[in-house]
Amino acid sequence: MSEDFYEALGVSRDASEDEIKKAYRKKAAEYHPDVSDDPNAEEKFKQVEKAKEVLTDEEKRQAYDQMGHDRFEQAEKRGGFDGGAGGAGGFGGGMGGMGGVEDIFEQFFGGGGRGGQRRNQPRQGRNLRTSMEITLEEAYEGVEKEFTITRPEQCTDCDGKGHPPEAEVSTCRECDGTGQVSRIQQTPFGRVQQRSTCRRCGGEGQTADKTCGSCGGDGIVNNEVTLTVEVPAGIREGQTLRMDGEGAPGENRGPNGDLLIDVEIAEHELFERDGDDLHYNHAISFPQAVFGDTVEIPTLDGTKKMEIPKGTQSGEQFRLRGEGMPRLRGRRSGHLFVTVQVVTPESLNKDQREALEAFAKAGGEEVDVSEGFFEKIKNSF
Ligand SMILES: [Zn+2]
Ligand SMILES: [Zn+2]
Repeated sequence: MSEDFYEALGVSRDASEDEIKKAYRKKAAEYHPDVSDDPNAEEKFKQVEKAKEVLTDEEKRQAYDQMGHDRFEQAEKRGGFDGGAGGAGGFGGGMGGMGGVEDIFEQFFGGGGRGGQRRNQPRQGRNLRTSMEITLEEAYEGVEKEFTITRPEQCTDCDGKGHPPEAEVSTCRECDGTGQVSRIQQTPFGRVQQRSTCRRCGGEGQTADKTCGSCGGDGIVNNEVTLTVEVPAGIREGQTLRMDGEGAPGENRGPNGDLLIDVEIAEHELFERDGDDLHYNHAISFPQAVFGDTVEIPTLDGTKKMEIPKGTQSGEQFRLRGEGMPRLRGRRSGHLFVTVQVVTPESLNKDQREALEAFAKAGGEEVDVSEGFFEKIKNSF
């Protein structure tokens, strides 16, 4: 079984075309068989290619969203969507005034599509997807995060049945209680006998003389719920957390789907993250660069002392071991890389100017670089 296209690309279900293309470029680079050391790279590469192809084509994406991953793949194997989906509009008139590509695909593959599975068998609910932004500090520490979403839930007033308890229930006359009706249809894939969900009873096989006022008969209502998710320390931008059973309700007492949470990490004002490592720029003065100094470097859980050696050049990088992000799995942490920038003063007081002029004079005309720099040049000859 191949993976859901949105999950393969790591984008949300409402991602724009631009976001999808961007995610594709990132993933394609990651899984390119020439680059990746992942043993399944080639397969994953093909999957993200396929995902991009489908999700950047408006018609295919619509069909994909409507049908779900498995049914879409099945349908594609049977005939492909190229031309088929576009041409399907022409059948509208002959299909009892059904409008649009979505409805037609629903007709083909709805209900009976899964190898004759009956409509009223238990079925797992959809996975839902949301995103959550956390701070770099929260990613460092790990955090228990509370959030609120609106999601479909089973209507409690009718217990998901769609009608109040006192309603009179009888076997559906249209489908004789089977929940399905058959008919011959002309389709983009040829002439097929199509079993589809009974429209009178919605596949339930039963009809009631009253409708639940809370859910309008769907058995499902949208509720706002507040949940708490455990975000592990070391989580990275774009990783997805899964909360089992917190997705859409299942049908016919099937289990709920899952809730997927895409984690985004807010930009930090001091640190830039690169995998498990952090990068930080620290400004020092010219005398500190020349004479060396001990400086305080901010870290994600306090400060750390760092030695600036004599003759440090602007742009030199130092490493504070283990002061980066914790590894998601494993005990060790990444490092904090500190790039030192020598700051040239924009204004000088009288004493400073005289001192610098004396410094310049003492070294002749070529004193604008430090000793260490000359050392390096000498060594390179
Ligand atoms: Zn209800
Ligand atoms: Zn029926």
